[in-house]
Amino acid sequence: EIRLDILPPGHDPEGALFSLPAGDTMPGWRVALALRDPRTFAASTAARVTSYVWAGALAIVVVVALALLAWDLLRRQLALTRLRNDLVANVTHELKTPLASMRLFVETLLDTPELDERTTREYLALIAQENLRLSRLIDNFLTFSRIEREKYSYAFRPVAPAALAEQAAAVVRERFHVPGCTFTVAVDDDLPAVSADPDAFTTALVNLLDNAWKYTGEPKEIALTVAATDDAVAFAVRDNGVGLAPRDARRIFQRFYQVRPQHSPSTGGCGLGLSIVQSIVAAHRGTIRVDSVPGRGSTFTICLSTA
Ligand code: ADP
Repeated sequence: EIRLDILPPGHDPEGALFSLPAGDTMPGWRVALALRDPRTFAASTAARVTSYVWAGALAIVVVVALALLAWDLLRRQLALTRLRNDLVANVTHELKTPLASMRLFVETLLDTPELDERTTREYLALIAQENLRLSRLIDNFLTFSRIEREKYSYAFRPVAPAALAEQAAAVVRERFHVPGCTFTVAVDDDLPAVSADPDAFTTALVNLLDNAWKYTGEPKEIALTVAATDDAVAFAVRDNGVGLAPRDARRIFQRFYQVRPQHSPSTGGCGLGLSIVQSIVAAHRGTIRVDSVPGRGSTFTICLSTA
């Protein structure tokens, strides 16, 4: 690659890497070292620069990817911590209410010297009601935490929509069968089967029915209807209750979102019910929507595509 030139006096060592005088015996002559192909140097320099640029770019990409990964982990950890704190705060607050009521009823009974049967029954019924409320709250809490930890395993199978509606209605029928409440169930004939986990889906419907009860003053009119739509089956829970403003209707499916102002009398929930319903509906690849008029009532509709 290297050429050795001996240059006579007056010749420029053009393109040479360097040149030296040839010595006293040849005054004016020079010995020069030059590259045979001057592009060799440029090409190898360019190759090296390119490799440095690639290595630099790769290092930047790796650092950015690691930073994003770390940020994502941190964000998830923070969200988890916040969720845990919210859960503890909300759930313990809501647990205290039915427990306090039960204690009060029991103490009143114990402090009454002469108990007549009617009062005792009334108090026992109230205690049973509070007990049920507590159980529901704990059930919801456990379902929620299982769903959140992705530990909830669904067992889907083709089910008749009428069976799902009946299973949910059976849970609430006795409670809703009181003066001041009309509860109706209407299921269309010949509905196609849907693919569902009957227990999970019942949990979703019972949550909607519970809400219909909680957010409706007397006289309550609560209806569960099941009807066929184009390529789905629609399960609707309708009430004539307080209804929802459009702004709230958009948010109620977020976990812990409650419309009632904080510290107002408890309704026996902690804002998890509808987020559970939404998770269950999503696992069924279904949709849920709410149509509501403030002061007139709400209708929650779950659509499941046919199996
Ligand atoms: P909560 O435990 O408070 O009932 P949910 O997630 O079930 O939690 O509901 C969230 C909020 O949505 C409730 O606090 C309530 O304000 C509103 N909501 C739910 N269902 C109804 C309904 N049928 N009518 C009016 N408001 C409702």
